[in-house]
Amino acid sequence: MQTTTVPDPQFRHLMQVTARPASIFVRGQGAWLWDEAGRRYLDWLQGWAVNSLGHSPELISRALQEQSTQLLTPSPALYNLPSLRLAASLCELSGFDQVFFGSTGAEANEGAIKLARKWGRVARGGAYEIVTFADAFHGRNLATMAASGKAGWDALFPPNVPGFAKARLNDLDSVLAALSPRSVAILLEPVQGEAGVRPATPEFLRALRRLCDERGLLLMFDEVQTGCARLGELFGFQHFGVEPDVLTLGKGLGGGVPISALLARAHCSVFEHGDQGGTYAGNPLMCAVALAVLDRLRQPEFLAGVRTQGARLGEGLRELSARHGLGEVRGHGLLWALELGHDGAGAVVERCREQGLLINAARPHCLRFMPRLDSTPEEIDQGLRLLERALAPGEAH
Ligand SMILES: *Cc1c(COP(=O)(O)O)cnc(C)c1O
Repeated sequence: MQTTTVPDPQFRHLMQVTARPASIFVRGQGAWLWDEAGRRYLDWLQGWAVNSLGHSPELISRALQEQSTQLLTPSPALYNLPSLRLAASLCELSGFDQVFFGSTGAEANEGAIKLARKWGRVARGGAYEIVTFADAFHGRNLATMAASGKAGWDALFPPNVPGFAKARLNDLDSVLAALSPRSVAILLEPVQGEAGVRPATPEFLRALRRLCDERGLLLMFDEVQTGCARLGELFGFQHFGVEPDVLTLGKGLGGGVPISALLARAHCSVFEHGDQGGTYAGNPLMCAVALAVLDRLRQPEFLAGVRTQGARLGEGLRELSARHGLGEVRGHGLLWALELGHDGAGAVVERCREQGLLINAARPHCLRFMPRLDSTPEEIDQGLRLLERALAPGEAH
């Protein structure tokens, strides 16, 4: 199986926005994904850290089935029960006060940017600038692309949305240098996911919290990837022990259906009628699913399982790195990366696929692993075995 760059005729009606293997995936169950040819893959992409409970979990089918017979979309101009329940549950679990629901991570982050600008207008004399970070990823609409720090992105669709000043992760001096009298907020991923699982240090996050308190800035965490139990606590900020003022969630919140959330503390929850909205914002079908998913993720034994299997994966990766003379292993919970020490990650991803394991090259030199959060120890061991075969082609195992 090869990655196509020239589109195969059967793919010609889809815009070719990314390189994809020339297979069609037709079914997923738990940790496994099947292609049209009947080949089975252990899936450590899981929809890009989306399928927190693996493929097609029964509790999602049930929630979809039940809610779809009651109410799909009454319109965002009317209240509905699942969104009220989900908002209450998220606030109770996180300590935040109010929620706005969207469909994608980019939408939640765009909402966070708008909220910060509004707060700057009403509470900070018109301050609007947001400090964001090199290599950050916040989404693919125009504002979140400008907030992101992916190399080359500033040249893609000019003119770029203004109002973002860039700093470097774990470098407080760079943050201080990026601040100006117009600064209103600092936005970051507590672990930079797309950059290759690069964690902020707890000291850095604590220093940012202090800085925000001293200067009257909002601390905003993009937890679209690190939230919803991915790091072994329900929210990543709990893992680091630093509380932001604004939090965004997405991906794992829906467990495979599109839903995201923007959470704010009361002091900065300043949207008024007409400021924010969306046709599907808080639609009951997606909220019913997220409610069922969250109810599972929040269980202490579930979170303990993420930490246990995460430690098993981290340990396995470290052993494998030592055996093969590879580089650093980074991660928490069930979000891990392995540095190869060379730019061969794309080739390793292809060899893994040939072995029946789906993973991602977060960077040309770095592999990323995002198994389902209810992974079994057998799945972890099997994935590590398949990875080792892909790293050492030709050796017998
Ligand atoms: C995936 C991701 C996003 C974007 O989410 P979409 O649902 O693709 O819009 C934003 N921030 C982070 C940290 C992400 O990992």
